[in-house]
Amino acid sequence: METEQKILMGGEFLVAETDPSNVFIVEDLTEEQNMVIAMTNDFIEKRIIPQAEKIESLDIDLTKKLLKEAGDLGLLGTAFPEEYGGFMQNFETNMAITSAFAASRSFSLSHGAHTGIGMLPILYFGNEEQKSTYLPPLIAGDKFAAYCLTEPTSGSDALSAKTNAVLSEDGTHYKLNGQKMWITNAGFADVFTVFAQVDGDKFTGFIVEKNWEGVSIGAEEKKLGIKGSSTRQVFFENVKVPTENLLGEIGKGHKIAFNILNIGRIKLCAGVLGGSKLLSQISIQYANERKQFGVNIGSFGAIKYKLAEQATRIYVTECAMHRTGRDISRMEHKLLADGKSLGEALLGAAEEYAIECAILKVYGSECLDYCADEGLQIHGGMGYSEEMYMAPSYRDARINRIFEGTNEINRMLTVDMLLKRAMKGKIDLMTPAMAIKNEMMSMPSSSNSVTGLFSVEKGYISNLKKLFLAVSGATIQSLMQDLEHEQEILMNMADIMSEIYLCESAVLATTKACNVRGEEACKGEITMTSLYINDAIERCALHAKNAISSWADGDTKRMLMLGIKRFTKHEFLNTKNMRREVADMLLEANEYIFK
Ligand SMILES: Cc1cc2nc3c(=O)[nH]c(=O)nc-3n(C[C@H](O)[C@H](O)[C@H](O)COP(=O)(O)OP(=O)(O)OC[C@H]3O[C@@H](n4cnc5c(N)ncnc54)[C@H](O)[C@@H]3O)c2cc1C
Repeated sequence: METEQKILMGGEFLVAETDPSNVFIVEDLTEEQNMVIAMTNDFIEKRIIPQAEKIESLDIDLTKKLLKEAGDLGLLGTAFPEEYGGFMQNFETNMAITSAFAASRSFSLSHGAHTGIGMLPILYFGNEEQKSTYLPPLIAGDKFAAYCLTEPTSGSDALSAKTNAVLSEDGTHYKLNGQKMWITNAGFADVFTVFAQVDGDKFTGFIVEKNWEGVSIGAEEKKLGIKGSSTRQVFFENVKVPTENLLGEIGKGHKIAFNILNIGRIKLCAGVLGGSKLLSQISIQYANERKQFGVNIGSFGAIKYKLAEQATRIYVTECAMHRTGRDISRMEHKLLADGKSLGEALLGAAEEYAIECAILKVYGSECLDYCADEGLQIHGGMGYSEEMYMAPSYRDARINRIFEGTNEINRMLTVDMLLKRAMKGKIDLMTPAMAIKNEMMSMPSSSNSVTGLFSVEKGYISNLKKLFLAVSGATIQSLMQDLEHEQEILMNMADIMSEIYLCESAVLATTKACNVRGEEACKGEITMTSLYINDAIERCALHAKNAISSWADGDTKRMLMLGIKRFTKHEFLNTKNMRREVADMLLEANEYIFK
């Protein structure tokens, strides 16, 4: 039995190592967790999929009826304590449930917005009375929730919201005026978390009920995809919001908005990976069925490339998601043991791993887009037909790069949050960065001959960490405050960081899986891990060169370019054969098989 090691803090993966025993693999699921997941799958298969066409035509009554059925099964309360009628499961189980719901297409949005951004603000920031008033009917599926942050003029710049709340003279209520846009579930929600400026500049959360005078809902948006998910504007005209419905503290609405998004981002990753697996599966099956030039199209190298690449991206991103999920889960337990309330523990844990959650949001949503795009391509003309699953999936996938913070905003956040943690002394980047600067001045040492699974890859990842510290250290030193205006460089830094996290997570999870299942049973996972690392090193080298060339010249540039060469040196693998090996395993099984 492996013992769990010290838990790494958020962002610390860049400067410290962790043990495979700290990451999550499917064998860690308990019997009870597997039962909850099986029940979720059963509900989706029997109740949602047969009615998918009606749901996608935006049959709101049907969506409400099915949400109520989910409530009756306990599936709206898996993240909520029993005292409010919930059926509290741990973080990892909730991620698995979210992943399973991906098969329900637009219904997953209705379910996710209700149980996530809709209800969680009340659980985390509500007082006892608010929780006991609002949560039980929402958990039962008798009422539904939505989250109103975005406005026509404030999207990414959410804190610049114009909706305002003015305290009445007698101090009994706030008068709420404003307009919210792109609100998921707005067509049928009864309870809204609304953000507004108190006294013009104190960004604050409120719980607002649909039936109150002055609340009105716009028409359904005509969207590119997720057509069965209700998205409307919400208007507030002189709405009297009782002071008891203030959520959290005045002027502290940003804490609600941003912390809810941290959890939303990792849950988005769970959802998009569920969707990606489904698309991979459909692509594999089509490649096995469709014949051209007298053979299955799956026998063509060009198609094998796509199938293997879909699976590799899914597998590696899932390893990273499971790693963060376990870290959040462990941190929650630690904070609870330290005497924090449930809300504080859950929020504190997600906030600690906000960097990792942002990485997962970006790489998960881009993995789904790859699977949808290349899955459609594998289907040729049939991919373009509305009669097949691929065309709507292609449209549905696209929203994930936009909401929960666009991928541009999330990439910048990963770097910004890392630098803030370093400035606050939560993570020491300076000492290792200085050591690397010295190392770059010295002759490269001859590589030591360590053997064993992933011994070479571990060395590569260690070098990628040095690459990140060398490039970002030199860039920050040179550009200082101006760096924030050089977004292209920030994007390069974010991608190097993210690639490191994904590569290392795959090594850790695959190593643990080999310890449990044996190497023979993990052949595909081992190949995909090495394949991903091989290509990631090339991508990181390009990001690093782009970043350095943006500002450095002369000797500085030459020295840093040599450093990049040194830290991205690797033996390029036969990626063609590796992809063929992965694709052949998938084609033989006729389904996505990796775990
Ligand atoms: C279907 C759907 C459902 C949604 N559901 C909800 C919901 O339930 N509740 C809710 O509150 N909101 C919801 N949203 C809103 C969503 O969160 C926003 O659309 C998103 O945050 C982006 O804001 P925006 O659309 O105003 O784009 P903008 O902020 O205008 O961004 C436009 C482009 O500029 C880029 N950009 C913006 N700022 C910067 C910057 N500083 N640096 C570099 N690039 C930048 C963006 O990345 C993007 O590419 C939903 C949106 C959609 C489409």
